[in-house]
Amino acid sequence: MATSKVGPLGGLGHWWGVLTAALLIAAWINSYAGPVVVAVLSIATALWCFFQAPVSCGAPVRGRTDGCRNNANGLLLGCHIRQHRWQKLKMLLVRRRFREFCSGLFSDGKATIVTLAGIGSLLSGLVAFIPGIAV
Ligand SMILES: [Zn+2]
Repeated sequence: MATSKVGPLGGLGHWWGVLTAALLIAAWINSYAGPVVVAVLSIATALWCFFQAPVSCGAPVRGRTDGCRNNANGLLLGCHIRQHRWQKLKMLLVRRRFREFCSGLFSDGKATIVTLAGIGSLLSGLVAFIPGIAV
């Protein structure tokens, strides 16, 4: 099973969500881009943030205070270690660990950028789907 394809861009290929986020901002500024374009870009950016963005895994590791430092697949999934894979989704579902999950969203610069992009794309997607909000 191929887990990751390394294209000609190498590690940069993992950052395609930044491109869709930039296009999304451009689409908002440029009024010629219709709500469909905004919606598609919003969904693509949100999916990237939650399931693809190369942020740190952060799953608790015995003997380490900062947790697992492997690259994870987005804000909701962990790294390649099987026990870590669903760690963050589980944290979301268990209420007493929810705060821990939220603090992990802003654990470093990369995670903060991805989190903000995720929130922004979700909001813009909502606005695009509910035209009444956008004036
Ligand atoms: Zn991990």
